[in-house]
Amino acid sequence: MTRSFPPQLKKFESERIAMVTVQILDRGIKDTAVLRAMRTVPRHQFIPKEYQKLAYDDGPLPIGYGQTISQPYIVAYMTEVAKPTPDKRALEVGTGSGYQAAILAEIVKEVYSVEIVPELAKESADRLARLGYKNITIRFGDGYRGWKEHSPFDIIMVTAAVEQIPQPLIEQLAENGRMVIPIGAPDEVQELILIEKKYGKIEKHRLTFVRFVPFKRL
Ligand code: SAH
Repeated sequence: MTRSFPPQLKKFESERIAMVTVQILDRGIKDTAVLRAMRTVPRHQFIPKEYQKLAYDDGPLPIGYGQTISQPYIVAYMTEVAKPTPDKRALEVGTGSGYQAAILAEIVKEVYSVEIVPELAKESADRLARLGYKNITIRFGDGYRGWKEHSPFDIIMVTAAVEQIPQPLIEQLAENGRMVIPIGAPDEVQELILIEKKYGKIEKHRLTFVRFVPFKRL
């Protein structure tokens, strides 16, 4: 998707380019579409005013309601693992600020994202509309159930830590689809898992250790 942001969004452009070089490219992310998306999306627009100066720093940041926007490297890493291409459709569980949804939407055809905090669902839907994203649909709800009406999804990305892989998400993953999900108890180190569906069967690959906010249920 090609869009041109208004001039005020050009702010922080040099910080953003530097962020991608130092935190993402130099740490081994190679997918050119992912690198381009990370250089394009104005991350500072997804962060509360008081933290905006830290938008391109190497860590997560608070976005209110006890939630966080993930570290840029983790966003890039999870996106690369998901193998996004322009023909694909993606489901995200845990919209938060909408940043990960925007990164995906720069590359794939359609993004559906579910958020359990109603205020965050509303704020990020407004933000993404203001930034001109037309291929992202957000709804408030419990993402444990996925989004059956729009399934199957080529990509499912979960951005809150869950103790067990939700069965509805496995069902809503397309053949040859890829799900990236942090598994583990809240407040402990969790493991990022890649799940692939091949001939209707599930293959699990353990990727790395991560720390995400806990998955909630309605
Ligand atoms: N992807 C987000 C990161 C948000 S942190 C970003 O780019 O900013 C994880 C988010 O998952 C939080 O906003 C939290 O409210 C949400 N969440 C937790 N449990 C959920 C559930 N069951 N369904 C949907 N969203 C959930």
